[in-house]
Amino acid sequence: MTLPSSLAVPLRPAPGPAAHHDPLRGDRTREVPGHERWHPDIPAVAEVITGGSVRMECQAREPGADALLCGPLVVVGAEPGDVIVVDVVAVGRADGLYAPSGHPGLIGCAPSADTLPGGPTAEAARSEALGRALGGCAIAPLTAGSRILLPVHVRGAKLSVGDLHFPGRGAVDCRRAGLPGWIDLRVNLTRRGVERFRVTGPMLMPEPSPRIA
Ligand SMILES: [Zn+2]
Repeated sequence: MTLPSSLAVPLRPAPGPAAHHDPLRGDRTREVPGHERWHPDIPAVAEVITGGSVRMECQAREPGADALLCGPLVVVGAEPGDVIVVDVVAVGRADGLYAPSGHPGLIGCAPSADTLPGGPTAEAARSEALGRALGGCAIAPLTAGSRILLPVHVRGAKLSVGDLHFPGRGAVDCRRAGLPGWIDLRVNLTRRGVERFRVTGPMLMPEPSPRIA
């Protein structure tokens, strides 16, 4: 696959390992770069089948930089018009410290060329530029136990997540709470969910009793 040359710049080498553990395919660990742009042609780093779970290890955002995304993760068989149901199983800090309110700052599926901001001729969108097409803590904190429905725009869905936040107890502002960590996701594919359930954007289903006061 040939990437637009503009993508070669934003992709930054991983300062540390971004390991992907896929229990359905056996243990494996490999280093992949984080990405800080959205584009349908960014190659997938791993894949998961419906009903499967995956751990994504996310790097911290560097000061002044765009949010760093982990992925994209291909959901096998997903096609545009489908919806993926993503359960946040657990979120943890890389240093192992207890952080019950950890949540991703951003989560979303790759845009199609048509849904890229700027249209099909646009080269790539910054990590936070998709606005309402993204889920994340700007809408609600997806702590462990949360569920989000995401419409699929490209074959394989190409799910990315990142910019993990670990706010302290009672903190209302998590902009300075980004740290490296991991997130365990379970993914289920719903055929033609966009049409059947009228899911046109991320639909959040936070846990009934959020752990953030
Ligand atoms: Zn947050």
